[in-house]
Amino acid sequence: MYGVSLLQPQLEHPPDRAVCPVRGCGVSAPWEPGPVPSAGDRRCPLHRIFLSRTSFRYERETDNLLWTGRPDLALLGAARKGTGERSFALDSSPGAVTWNVFRWLEATGGLAPLLEEWLGETVLETAVAYWGYGSRNLELLPHLRRTRIAFAEPESDETRFPVCIETSGHFVAVVPRLGPIRPGDEESGRKRWEPERESDWLGDVLMPHWRELLDMRLAAALLRVWVLGSYAAKLRGLAFVLLDISPRWANRAAGESFEGGLRIGEDRRLAKANWEDVYDFAGESSLPDADAIRIYLREKSAGYSPDGRLRRAFSPEVARTVTRVS
Ligand SMILES: [Zn+2]
Repeated sequence: MYGVSLLQPQLEHPPDRAVCPVRGCGVSAPWEPGPVPSAGDRRCPLHRIFLSRTSFRYERETDNLLWTGRPDLALLGAARKGTGERSFALDSSPGAVTWNVFRWLEATGGLAPLLEEWLGETVLETAVAYWGYGSRNLELLPHLRRTRIAFAEPESDETRFPVCIETSGHFVAVVPRLGPIRPGDEESGRKRWEPERESDWLGDVLMPHWRELLDMRLAAALLRVWVLGSYAAKLRGLAFVLLDISPRWANRAAGESFEGGLRIGEDRRLAKANWEDVYDFAGESSLPDADAIRIYLREKSAGYSPDGRLRRAFSPEVARTVTRVS
């Protein structure tokens, strides 16, 4: 796994080529605009990554994962079956960050205490599902399937929420994001969500102007989780929490106008968290692999800006005293 300490702080590419971002490597490969390649000759054979100008893709997906023991990979494989989620080898994959962080929290017993901090209330018993699949049976999952049918939602990776947590009193749907909610279109290639079927539920849980929010980047995906998740939680008899987790730097932007579109109720609410909270939590805990998760979050890159500067994905406190990559 190549973190910011191993990556070149500044990249300059020859025309029509992309340079390997690993420090000290002079390899370059043919480049053309478009998605980061996953095959062909556009790779660095020394570092086993496919090259693009702003990010890179590991040849072996496990190189981008922290937890690769047999039970971990079996769980991840089952979770992703049929979801079409194939981007975990991409350095900037939100799926890989989600797996690396939440699997650590689940496997070490850190999830309940951290959720208590995030929700501000006692959390008892947690069961987790990744992309609709859990190592324990969640009562909630059949209700999510019923919800999908009620709203005529197609079965796809977008209707299977990345992380669902069921506690004794809550259904928590985690929306992991690595960038801000902001005005502007979705990334190209992503279809914007709109309800397949009109329903009174939309009026129950959203403010009248909610369609305007769909124009904001990432907002449609959050609205979908809000609408479907709150419905499923009601079927299950649990309070619904949409847990919006983002990097600290991405808190601002259009987040407030998004929140204004949600009808918060006694049994449904929005909770906000930062990936850096996990860093702080790991630092105060004596849980296994706490150092590994801290190094991961501190070292995680967000790829290169258009002018070739390496960016950090997160800004944990410690990063301020380390040489800043700018
Ligand atoms: Zn290289």
